[in-house]
Amino acid sequence: MAKMRAARLYEPGQPFHIDEIERPEPRSGDLLVKVKACGIIPNMNAIVSGKYWHHLPPMPAIIGLDAAGVVVKAPMGRADIGEGDRVYINPFLNCGQCYYCRSGAPTLCADAALRGYFGFTPRGAKLLQDYPYGGLAEYLTAAPSHVVKLPQEVTFEQGARFGYLGTSFAALRRGAAGPGSWIAIHGMTGTLGVGAVLLALGMGVSRILGWGRNREVLARLKTLSPRRVDTLALGDAPLKHWLRERTEGVGVDLLIDCSGRGGPAAPVAEAVDCLKRGGVMVNIGALAEPLALNPTQFMTGALQYRGSNWFTNADAALMADMARVGALDLSHLEPRIYRLEQVNQALADIKQRPGGLLNFIVALDA
Ligand SMILES: [Zn+2]
Repeated sequence: MAKMRAARLYEPGQPFHIDEIERPEPRSGDLLVKVKACGIIPNMNAIVSGKYWHHLPPMPAIIGLDAAGVVVKAPMGRADIGEGDRVYINPFLNCGQCYYCRSGAPTLCADAALRGYFGFTPRGAKLLQDYPYGGLAEYLTAAPSHVVKLPQEVTFEQGARFGYLGTSFAALRRGAAGPGSWIAIHGMTGTLGVGAVLLALGMGVSRILGWGRNREVLARLKTLSPRRVDTLALGDAPLKHWLRERTEGVGVDLLIDCSGRGGPAAPVAEAVDCLKRGGVMVNIGALAEPLALNPTQFMTGALQYRGSNWFTNADAALMADMARVGALDLSHLEPRIYRLEQVNQALADIKQRPGGLLNFIVALDA
């Protein structure tokens, strides 16, 4: 039997083990992918701690949310995805059976899971038994419908960021961001926030106002487009005042909450007060405390508050195409590469919240 190396979690909160295990054989109709890069994100430490509501896969589990690689075995008789294709493996698994899946809305699946990560419900976690291969392994299997082709212009390291980029992209699209839009990003310096800035620039958004704590990242984001991007280091000025002033008292069309886990609700509440009439707030963050909203304000201002969870393969394909033509410039993401044996170090380093411009990657063939 051919072997492969994989990082496995034996017990929540414990370091990963690097094991040599059997290389998977794809089920009929599935692909075998040689993984080149797997993204490491700040939330991964929280997920593998097992302390939150997420339902972890059976242990020992191959973890790894966002992987990119090369197809090395494809089902016979189909030309759409073939051997040698560079792909992003969308880890979102839907049950295919619930009301939402049957109604053609798989991202609303009641029992979904993110492979190599967690199930949203105990039943969702069962889906992880069909695809027990996370991205921190040299090979994984995937249904052709779960992969997105990557053009040559997107590196494997950039492809391994697609999960967080896609989450921000879906939020921007739900808020109808585009030319003429003025948007605000809470938590601009984190992984989701930086992705939202890069994508918003590519989508032609007119003004991008954001705030966070990492001054260095804020300064670098401003230089990407000084006339379109404006930033505030939290604490330097009262947020509501700053946002009102920057929008000439009118407010923003869209507010995206990219809160990190455990962040405070107060700045988000201040920003909600600066939504333009008819404006939308989209939550993709991990705000841990309740957010006080004023229903009358939402009625009279015709405001919307909505959540957004993950994204579709169509979203991922659009991002890949934006990157192919240069509208989405992913070269601003600085890869920080670790070998598989260094995965625990990568998780320790990302705990220091280094900011979303760094792209933490485990390179499987390094
Ligand atoms: Zn479903």
